[in-house]
Parts: sequence; structure tokens; C-alpha cells
Amino acid sequence: MSNQDWLTRSLASVWHPCTQMKRHETLPIIPVARAEGVWLEDFEGNRYLDAVSSWWVNLFGHGHPRIKQAIKQQLDEVEHVMLAGFTHRPVIELSERLSALTGLGHVFYASDGASATEIALKMSFHYWKNVGQPDKCRFISLDNSYHGETAGALAVTDVPLFSATYAPLLKPGVRVPSPDARLARAGQSAEDVARAAIRSLENVLAKKAGEMAAIIVEPLVQGAAGMAMYHPVYLTELRRLCDQYQVHLIADEIAVGFGRTGTLFACEQAGIKPDFLCLSKGITGGFLPLSCVLSTDTIYQAFYHDDVTRGFLHSHSYTGNALACSAALAVLDIFADEDIIARNRELAATFTDILAPLAERADVRHFRHTGMIWAFDVDTPRADFAQAFFSAMLKQGCLVRPIGKTVYFMPPYVMQPEEMMQLCQASCLVLDALHQESNVLTGPATALP
Ligand SMILES: *Cc1c(COP(=O)(O)O)cnc(C)c1O
Repeated sequence: MSNQDWLTRSLASVWHPCTQMKRHETLPIIPVARAEGVWLEDFEGNRYLDAVSSWWVNLFGHGHPRIKQAIKQQLDEVEHVMLAGFTHRPVIELSERLSALTGLGHVFYASDGASATEIALKMSFHYWKNVGQPDKCRFISLDNSYHGETAGALAVTDVPLFSATYAPLLKPGVRVPSPDARLARAGQSAEDVARAAIRSLENVLAKKAGEMAAIIVEPLVQGAAGMAMYHPVYLTELRRLCDQYQVHLIADEIAVGFGRTGTLFACEQAGIKPDFLCLSKGITGGFLPLSCVLSTDTIYQAFYHDDVTRGFLHSHSYTGNALACSAALAVLDIFADEDIIARNRELAATFTDILAPLAERADVRHFRHTGMIWAFDVDTPRADFAQAFFSAMLKQGCLVRPIGKTVYFMPPYVMQPEEMMQLCQASCLVLDALHQESNVLTGPATALP
């Protein structure tokens, strides 16, 4: 069967995520037949460089032999068993290892990032209720935050395209300024912006801490709203304020965890420990859905009681799936055995050098980089930039999905310098071509990540 056959069948039967389906009347969809390393291949042998790790999950590219092997082995032991009243080796080992790596514990599992957010929000509220402070039931989030798209998670997400339509369903929280380093005015440093954002937060806490359960943040990089990067002092100061005002700190490391910002977890760069840590995306290297929330002993103890309703009331059918946990264990093995963090540091320096031609372009603003994430904003009048750039890059054999006018690369950690060079050359070529073309609208501007 050809690409066209698969495409037709997919559009007739699958409701694709984050997609206005009607757009696919003109815009092709890519049926992937095979994937290996950083490459996706369609049914006609065309190859695409996966520069976004397939929505940030395939940390070590596609088909990593070690993760595949771990899953195969687990298949012969136990594929799945309910985690209420039962337990199994991979979930125990994974929980122990995540605890050792984070200094947190009592790992609670789900299958996707949004559910991890839901769990952290519910747990935070329930903690305060259990300790006699039920009025602490609201949440603080940052401008341009993204924490997932279920109703609870969407309430702490500030991407109007995703949340505005559903506003009547959402419980409003409090939004505070982002420490986004791009907000620096002349003479201001990234640290100045972070400290100003902290002062705004402190004003809110001084007035409203009594009704606030938690503040949720994406440490160091706000991903889905456009790769806003910020100074770690924001997190250090945030920890101090959360302690002072008795508000939980929820670190959503769903996107930035597992080495993406240059350390295994982003919070390490601020020397802080959150009250809740949400993990997902890279946790299984893109093989199987899995997420989890780690918390402190203090939180855990507040639920430990004879009364069932003081326990945490939440469950998902696939909680702690054994195959997913075995994939996650293989991911941790790869980090440990191949010294990925140190290797990435060298790779990142090489990649930044390679991307210099992009950074130096007149139409590129705020070229920025944290760990294994690169991003820049394109100065273009085109309302359809994201769509046009995405489509043109596909023709160059590269998968890149800009967010509005922000182009970002989140490559799998196995990407080679030659491949980054190809990505850089294709990007420059496409930017040149787009500037020359007339502004042919293929639809309204979107910010789909
Ligand atoms: C992707 C993401 C989520 C949601 O994860 P899903 O698995 O897509 O539900 C939450 N928070 C952050 C920071 C994310 O990047």
C-alpha cells in the first residue's frame, strides 16, 4: 500500500490529536512504516529526521535495542497486573531507583503526563484537607504554562488555543508572571527578570497563601507555550517562598526531566527539591505510556491513617504497567552505563556551534539553548509561519513543529553532528524560501506544539 492509501484510511478512521481535521484536505499526513534512531521512514521510502523526538518522548531515538530487549524479556515474566493489592518487580525497582535519583519517594503511577498533573493537584489539595486546612484548594500557575489537557491540568495551563474553548469547564486558579528571560528590557539580565517574577509571586502569596494549595511550574523551560527559558534563581527563590508561605511546590518535569535541560532533572540546577515531582514523556524512551508523581515523606504521612477516605483516592487501570516500567528501567540503565549526561554536555556544545548560522541570521530573535533544547523566534509577518515552515521542512526531510513563530529542536540524544548540520542547513534554506514567497494563507495562525 502507498502513502496515499494509508493517509486516506487514517483520515477516515482516526481522529488525530491537536489537529483541525479539515486541514488535511490539503495538508498530507505522513504514514510511518518504520523508524530507527533519529529517522522515520514512510511507505515510499522517504526519510524524515525526527528533530522533536516525536513530541519529546523518544529520548534515544526510535527502536533502541536495549529498551526493546528489556520489554521483550518482561513479556515472558508478567505483562501487566493490577497495582491495587498486587505488586511486581519492575514497579518496585523503578520506584526505588527514581527515589534514589530524586530524594523523593512514594511513587504514584499513571499513564500520561496530564494524569500526573491531576494526581499532584489532587494530592496537594487532599494533603491540606487531611491536615485541617481545607480552604487551601486553589492553584497558582505561570503565564504561558502548559501542564496537560484534561480538565484539571487545563485549568493550570495558559495556552489560550487549548484552554479558552473549555473555560466554562475549568476551575480558575491564579496566574503569575513568567520568568521568561526574553522579557528582559534593555540592561536587564535573565536573573533580573526571574527576581521580578518572584516579587510578583510574593505579592500574591502575601495576600492569598491561605487559599492556595500549590504552585505548579515547568522547571527551567516552559515547553509547549514556546520554549521560554529562565534563570534557575527563580526556582531557588520559589522554594524559599513556598516554605515561607506554606504552599506546595509542584515541579512538572514531564518535558524537562531525564536529561533534557542538561542535568537528569532540571530542579538539580537550582539545588531544590519540590514537594511533588511529575515525570512522564521521556521516562520510557518513547516506547510505552507511563507517568508518575513522587512526593515527600511529610505528604505521604498525612495520608497514612485508618480512615480510607484519608488515603489518596485515585486510580488508573494501567497504573504501574510492568512492560512500561521495564522500559523505564532500561532508560535509567542507559543513562547510568553510557554516562549520557556528560556525553550530552559535549554533544550540546557541538550542536550549538553547528547552529551558529541560524543564531546569526537577521530574521532570528532570541536564539536560546538549555541542555538538549534549542529554540529561536522568527521575525516574519507570515501568520501561517508555523504551518508553512513545518510543511517546507518535511520536504527537506526534517520533522520540526514550530510553536507560533518559535522554532525549536529537541533532538533524540543519539543525533549525530552531521544530522544536526543537515537540520541547520534545511532550516536556513526554508527560512530564505519563506521570506521570498508571498504570504499564502493555508489557515489561521496556530500555536500547536
Ligand atoms: C506534555 C506535557 C504534559 C502532558 O503530558 P501528556 O502525556 O501529553 O498528557 C504536561 N506537562 C508538560 C510540561 C508537558 O510538556
